Amino acid sequence: MYSLRFDDGVTSAGFLLTPRGVASLGDAATHGAERLWTTMLARYPTIGAAFADARPTMPMAWLPRIQHRLTRATGARWALLPHAYAFVDPLFSTGIAWGLRAVERLGLMFEEAASGARVPDAARLERYDRALAAEADQIDTLVAGAYEAMAEFELFAAQAMLYFAAVSFAEVGQRIAPDESVAWRGFLGVGDPVLEPLFGESLQRLTEITRGCGRATALSSEESRAFVAWMAAAIAPRNIAGLADPARHNLYPVDLDLLVERHGLLGMTRERMMESLPALRGMSPEPSFPSTSRASGGSADPSTALGMTAGADPSTALG
Ligand SMILES: Cc1cc2nc3c(=O)[nH]c(=O)nc-3n(C[C@H](O)[C@H](O)[C@H](O)COP(=O)(O)OP(=O)(O)OC[C@H]3O[C@@H](n4cnc5c(N)ncnc54)[C@H](O)[C@@H]3O)c2cc1C
Repeated sequence: MYSLRFDDGVTSAGFLLTPRGVASLGDAATHGAERLWTTMLARYPTIGAAFADARPTMPMAWLPRIQHRLTRATGARWALLPHAYAFVDPLFSTGIAWGLRAVERLGLMFEEAASGARVPDAARLERYDRALAAEADQIDTLVAGAYEAMAEFELFAAQAMLYFAAVSFAEVGQRIAPDESVAWRGFLGVGDPVLEPLFGESLQRLTEITRGCGRATALSSEESRAFVAWMAAAIAPRNIAGLADPARHNLYPVDLDLLVERHGLLGMTRERMMESLPALRGMSPEPSFPSTSRASGGSADPSTALGMTAGADPSTALG
């Protein structure tokens, strides 16, 4: 289930169901979205209680398939944003971060083209297309692994560590050493020699554990324990947040002491890390960009993209 609560009191909510999940609901799926919604609330009483007083602000909708992927993200004089190009699942909330990264890239591409043809050339569009293709694959692989892992909570929590390791490492690195080339760094560990291959390897291991049937009954607890241990070791070179620590009981607050302790993972000395800490809270001087980007008024406004999720999203599976 996703549940996005907005400032105006409206909550966007819905369920994403696997084919097996739909089948388990009997004929509810054939009786329309409202019936499906009430069936789901009845199945999960705590969610039912939370939504007991909720009233739809628009007709509920049910989509048999939410995933899509196009063959290209760019062509002559056009480029797609990630969500138009490919969507797998809202799990891990990759959508807006990925979208904003693409906006940054497009901004840079237009800026570089400003003095010539005024539109990005074929080579730049090709680079953008390649980046989005690799990143769509990476998200797909991460989500596929997570759906396999859903059979058992410990497996799912371990798979989530891969996501959190990749994004915490990227985000801290970006904040403490901002530079424009960051926009072209791969999303979710793409291009990172340590992280990139882990997504596929993790999916393969999970599929072996669940025998591809995603069912808890087929699991061996020894295999699950081995997966959890493998994941902790695999992410260790990028684990700046103290993830995959059983003593944390799946709760990971920001731990600056630990970050300082692990300065070496970010290629920094302890002293340099200490000096950089204010940047993590947005307290460093703004990076300077060439004046052309401001003159054109083309800088990305993050609030625009965030605001869009509040609108009706036609791709919502049931909500
Ligand atoms: C169920 C669900 C839950 C999600 N949860 C999260 C989350 O928790 N966190 C997160 O980061 N991301 C989430 N996402 C992803 C996020 O919604 C998208 O990544 C983001 O909205 C993409 O922004 P966008 O501006 O590229 O596209 P959109 O937000 O899709 O905006 C495109 C707009 O263009 C309009 N449009 C389309 N065609 C035309 C046309 N021909 N003429 C005029 N207008 C047109 C559409 O109506 C739409 O308003 C979720 C997505 C879904 C489906």
